[in-house]
Amino acid sequence: YPEHLWMKPAAAYHFPLDGAPVSIGLYGEGHINTTYLVTTTSGKRYILQKIKDTVFDVPPLMENIERVIRLAQKNAKKQADETGKMQIGSLNLIDDLDGCSYYRDETGYYRVYDYVEGTICLQAPESNDDFYQSAAAFGAFQKLMQNFPVEELHESIPDFHNTVNRYRIFRETVSRDPLGRAAGVSEEIRFALDREKGAGELCRLRQNGTLPLRVTHNDTKLNNVLLDEKTRKARCVIDLDTVMPGLAAYDFGDAIRFGAATAAEDERNLSRMTLDLERFRIFTRGYLEYGPDFSEKEIETFPLGAIIMTLECGVRFLTDYLDGDRYFAIRRDGQNLDRARTQFKLVSEMEKHLDEMRRIVREEEDRRNSQKR
Ligand code: ATP
Ligand code: MG
Ligand code: MG
Repeated sequence: YPEHLWMKPAAAYHFPLDGAPVSIGLYGEGHINTTYLVTTTSGKRYILQKIKDTVFDVPPLMENIERVIRLAQKNAKKQADETGKMQIGSLNLIDDLDGCSYYRDETGYYRVYDYVEGTICLQAPESNDDFYQSAAAFGAFQKLMQNFPVEELHESIPDFHNTVNRYRIFRETVSRDPLGRAAGVSEEIRFALDREKGAGELCRLRQNGTLPLRVTHNDTKLNNVLLDEKTRKARCVIDLDTVMPGLAAYDFGDAIRFGAATAAEDERNLSRMTLDLERFRIFTRGYLEYGPDFSEKEIETFPLGAIIMTLECGVRFLTDYLDGDRYFAIRRDGQNLDRARTQFKLVSEMEKHLDEMRRIVREEEDRRNSQKR
């Protein structure tokens, strides 16, 4: 058996928990870290995570998380005092016995959060309102991060949404063609290359300062939000590993890429893959209602963000297919090619519906403005 299935991490004993651990078990459906639920003699519960240190440089990553959580807690309290009601918040991190935000032993790096009681975590929305709640949560997260000194945040994955660089790597891989796969996918390669110039637009707007840098979450899936088990309203944003400086359009676009798609990422029947405009509207509404005062220019780039995030993702899948599936794990041959194809199909659908996406964003912006007045 793999070690993590039988070994109970001793790291649990290096954090000042309320009571002694009575049970430690694997928990949740995360794919990156190894997550445990710890219950103590007092009945209090904690989330213990072994951080994936093959992907992340842990000390700067934890510095990001510490600072993000500290500001989120401060601003959430302020918002609660001002409005008289509890708003959407973030996690609570427990320092280890030496006062460090993570503990390291010979088996790896660990951190502990309070378990957020009374919540559920959904892998997929069961209703439009669940999706709306995820939009509210990520919008609220942007608002909590409003006055963060973004320049001081580490880039935990360098060039994560540097689309121009992603294309450079793609072109290199096409010309190296290590497995001779390029000839079989010339149509897909062409699709990507035809859009290279437009794909760099967000990078340019970021570089020339047209769009403000924000603290972005970069993994805006519904299962990174905890919903209240009774009211089913968003309570808390989790999974802060990919928090980095970025654009609001990244978080918006990636959420649409995933949440407003009508088919699975590796669906082979491409006719099933379209853009659900109703979902698009719902996400836009929640993100604007709960978000900060995004600039007009920022809001204008949301539809573009959806297209570019989807295209970039497709280009990465295609690059990995050409490179022999070294980055994205596959369970069957050709899975990364299928993934690239669904993303490109979704890009075409988005291009077809670009005017509608723009109209929806404008309508939702008006709606929000009239509510504020
Ligand atoms: P991903 O595959 O999304 O990157 P991950 O491996 O980074 O996931 P997390 O998302 O941080 O892991 O946590 C895994 C799961 O554990 C969550 O989806 C959620 O169900 C649960 N979880 C994490 N933190 C908490 C918490 N503080 N309270 C309650 N549940 C939590
Ligand atoms: Mg997660
Ligand atoms: Mg994660």
